[in-house]
Amino acid sequence: MSPPACIFCRIAKHEIPARVVLEDDDVIAFHDLSPQAPVHALVIPKAHVVSLDELTPEHGALHLSLLQGARRVARELGLTEGGYRVVANTGRDGGQSVFHLHLHVLGGRPLGWPPG
Ligand code: 5GP
Ligand code: ZN
Repeated sequence: MSPPACIFCRIAKHEIPARVVLEDDDVIAFHDLSPQAPVHALVIPKAHVVSLDELTPEHGALHLSLLQGARRVARELGLTEGGYRVVANTGRDGGQSVFHLHLHVLGGRPLGWPPG
């Protein structure tokens, strides 16, 4: 079920524009509108899943598609050699602001740790 107002569902359906990095049957990846690093992309399932916390074993191969999507984005955007970070902000304390599951792929500079 895809809530009509969900911005990432609308991106997945190409109803609103995004700078797409890659796409397959299960996932789509695109550049973040407000990049927090020289390279900052998001990998999302095309199906509406609220957060990582709602990604269950019933979603089966989607887990693999998402993680491999992050890896493929890193390769596509030249992050593989230098390294990168994959983040899933989850829920209120995790700092999630868009409630459609997404993996951030960040890189292109040394990233600090721990996050704020
Ligand atoms: P969160 O805070 O939920 O972990 O991350 C949501 C991310 O989505 C933010 O980094 C934000 O910049 C990005 N974002 C929000 N709306 C849009 C949009 O319409 N297009 C794109 N490309 N990114 C968006
Ligand atoms: Zn959605």
